[in-house]
Amino acid sequence: MARADVVLDCSDNFATRHAINRACVRHRKPLVSGAAIRFDGQAAVFDLRRPDSACYHCLFPEGEDLEEVRCAVMGVFAPIVGIIGATQAAEALKLIIGCGKTLDGRLLLLDGLAMEWRSVALGRDPGCTVCAASA
Ligand SMILES: [Zn+2]
Repeated sequence: MARADVVLDCSDNFATRHAINRACVRHRKPLVSGAAIRFDGQAAVFDLRRPDSACYHCLFPEGEDLEEVRCAVMGVFAPIVGIIGATQAAEALKLIIGCGKTLDGRLLLLDGLAMEWRSVALGRDPGCTVCAASA
């Protein structure tokens, strides 16, 4: 992790996502997060090189009783995985090249049934037990 330029999280469970996030916060690495379930997808960038960037835990706090819905149980419409994966690849390349405007500070949501994208702003949680403690 310490030698990585960019980290992509393509895992399918909260324990791994939070472990990757904690390592990215510790090493101040940009994290490109992606998820897909059924016909829905989401992508986000947490550019943890910036001191005011939100982290994954700010958005999805660990320990909350979020029901874990896994692809293995719920299924996933395969093209959604490709769309989200390609979006993550584009964001990773932009971070490495240093061009354009990344998804940092935004959560991109895909409704695959309507084929509509939505973007919501992400703020840092000042009480976040992962990134606020390391600032
Ligand atoms: Zn945080």
